Amino acid sequence: QQEQGQWQDQIKWSPDGLVPAVVQDALSKEVLMLAYMNKESLQKSLESGQTWFWSRSRGELWNKGATSGHTQQIESLHYDCDGDTLLVKVRQNGPACHTGAYSCFYREGALKAAEAAPRQEEDRFGPLSRLEATIAQRDAERPEGAYTTYLFEKGLDKILKKVGEETAEVIIAAKNRDGEELRCESADLIFHLMVLLREQGIPFDDVLKELEFRHRKPVKKD
Ligand code: AMP
Ligand code: ZN
Ligand code: ZN
Repeated sequence: QQEQGQWQDQIKWSPDGLVPAVVQDALSKEVLMLAYMNKESLQKSLESGQTWFWSRSRGELWNKGATSGHTQQIESLHYDCDGDTLLVKVRQNGPACHTGAYSCFYREGALKAAEAAPRQEEDRFGPLSRLEATIAQRDAERPEGAYTTYLFEKGLDKILKKVGEETAEVIIAAKNRDGEELRCESADLIFHLMVLLREQGIPFDDVLKELEFRHRKPVKKD
């Protein structure tokens, strides 16, 4: 282990001993926040499995969530090509931003029209990934009156009941050969299934990977 050297030796600390850390939601892949680590906070993060930063404004070590309860469980830690940036993928408890927002990056800076890249044609599955991001946001922010908030507050049994109901409604619509009804009930089922996956801490990517994996295997009929 010693002859290889520690991976931490690859980190290029700034003159004031800091390295920026991008924090990403390990489930939804949304970028949550950026903060700085020094050697000690990185060490504490590695030992505890929770994020520790160096607060430049307060000039002290900072265990994210120590006062708010909005802690971050580290799932993985990467450093970039030239070792001057960290990427920390976390299980975020509640909002990541001290304003109560799910992500710190909720404000959009408008581009000058001339400088904006031509809008790419939207991926057919774009609505699915936006839905995943919205569900993650509702889970963190729990905005009053939102149906997704209601589901998360009611908890697992309520979510499971809805998945069951929506499944039954899909079956009934299909039996009746009611295309319009099937379209609506399928959307309801997919939404509730994605809420369930978030509640269970399963990244939607894992489901996609499973589908991809099966696609490459010879098909086994059951
Ligand atoms: P917390 O670590 O969530 O208990 O919050 C403690 C304090 O850290 C807050 O009052 C903020 O000053 C600061 N803070 C928390 N989260 C962030 C963030 N995402 N970006 C910048 N400052 C933060
Ligand atoms: Zn870099
Ligand atoms: Zn913030």
